[in-house]
Amino acid sequence: MTVNGHSNGVNGAGPSTLSPLQVEPSSVEAARILPQALELVQNFIASGEQPDTYVAPWGSIPDFRKAVSLSLPDKTASDDALLDAIKLVFDNSVNPWTGRFLDKLYAAPTPVGIAADLVLSAVNANAHVMSASPVLSLAEERCVEGLCELFGFTEKKADGLTMPGGSSANTLAVQTALANLFPKFRTQGMLGVMQQLTEEKRAPRPLLFTSSQSHYSLDKAAISSGLGLDSVVKVDCDDAGRMDPKALDHALTAAKEQGTGTPFLINATSGTTVLGSFDPLPELSAVARKHNCWLHIDGSWGGPIVFSHRQTYSDLMKGSHLADSITINPHKLLNVPLQCSFLLVRDADTLSANSLDAAYLFHSKDRRENAAMKTMGCGRRGDALKFWLYWVRYGKNGFGAHVDAGLALAIELVEYIRSKPTEIELGPLADPLFLQICFRPLQPGRVDDSASWQLDAEEVKKRSAATQHVYQELKTRRMFAVDFAPLPNGIGDYIRLVVHPRTKMEDLKTLVDQVAEIGQSYWKQQA
Ligand SMILES: *Cc1c(COP(=O)(O)O)cnc(C)c1O
Repeated sequence: MTVNGHSNGVNGAGPSTLSPLQVEPSSVEAARILPQALELVQNFIASGEQPDTYVAPWGSIPDFRKAVSLSLPDKTASDDALLDAIKLVFDNSVNPWTGRFLDKLYAAPTPVGIAADLVLSAVNANAHVMSASPVLSLAEERCVEGLCELFGFTEKKADGLTMPGGSSANTLAVQTALANLFPKFRTQGMLGVMQQLTEEKRAPRPLLFTSSQSHYSLDKAAISSGLGLDSVVKVDCDDAGRMDPKALDHALTAAKEQGTGTPFLINATSGTTVLGSFDPLPELSAVARKHNCWLHIDGSWGGPIVFSHRQTYSDLMKGSHLADSITINPHKLLNVPLQCSFLLVRDADTLSANSLDAAYLFHSKDRRENAAMKTMGCGRRGDALKFWLYWVRYGKNGFGAHVDAGLALAIELVEYIRSKPTEIELGPLADPLFLQICFRPLQPGRVDDSASWQLDAEEVKKRSAATQHVYQELKTRRMFAVDFAPLPNGIGDYIRLVVHPRTKMEDLKTLVDQVAEIGQSYWKQQA
């Protein structure tokens, strides 16, 4: 049978070409390759557990680029070549299983996460519609329900969905708020919003308020939603990094009175990226109500505190039920593999602003069966499955005990740092202390004067340089990965340590000792 002169290989008339992706039954290839790949995974984990394994295989990116190149071959490769390529990945990757990767807000997953990722790839189902991904969609629905209940979204029919990261979730929250507060946003964009505001004799620029310590994704959300960066108002924080509700109220009132814009959204951060501070939710929600603003909570990092069994900490989310939307990233504090992030909304109907009828995809208007109706994306990975399997494995109480284990470590480590007042300068801490500790080496002979935070520019420069020297030296040694960050109020750069709940106390103390030791010899050289 010939179509347009080409043999199509159907009915055996003419040579059919096998795709090289299918030269043997997949079950046969899987039985051969997967156990070998899994063995490499296990080796990577086991190697991470050895105390002398480097956390990062390369001390610098130029060294890494010189040593590692990835080929893009023309021909098919053997099993061995494939496994060599996988081995190359493990040999040259940062190893989070060392427990000494304290650089970012995520850490190693658990083996349950690896299993979950395998399952996700095996079913390879698109979570845009439930008919394509029945269990994945149900897992998403259940996790959303479970989280909504924890945050007190119980008064109305709440809803939510997974998003590819906290930044995406925050962005969707901003878009959802705009579309709900300004009905013309959906059809006429920002032009329609400006027209509406002008007709109502309000300043024609919608303003988003967030703290000076909040994540930059709020600024990105302003760019991508058409608001622009100048529509983001940064509100001052107290010394512990919390947004000041009085300063917020003042900024909102001033914007209205001076006609600079019309406030529409307040973002509260639960767990800031540098200090780990929690904005006061009841106070901020009162301000939001007073000014008719959407209240979003960015709990990307600190949201899981809701699981804590320590009341001082679980109380940090008190008032969350008054918000309109919440972001939480199980891929950070709860160690679910990247990526796993949720946006929750108090009122399910607010998500209808993001829906379009696509007759070729959606065959009902039920958003619960068509999760892609809730967001701007179409194809969606079933990330909730990973969180659901964690929940099955560790339980709600297990999550709480996990978070609490981290808090106990952080509290003990701060005491340890305080026991070295001649070597280490402790930076400002969240109140109550969360999982970040900022500190830097102290110049010998100086007292820790950090409590006053009154440093002249020259002193700030000197101390920041010492911090960056320690950071570089730790990178070269490759046994610990930590980051540094400038702290609020112009006090300069500090080492920012993220205490992950599964870190060993002895490793944390060794790191502090090394910062002290590197710092002391640095200051000696400077003298
Ligand atoms: C990490 C973080 C984000 C961004 O989350 P991604 O998943 O990295 O996009 C947003 N807000 C805060 C407070 C964060 O710590």
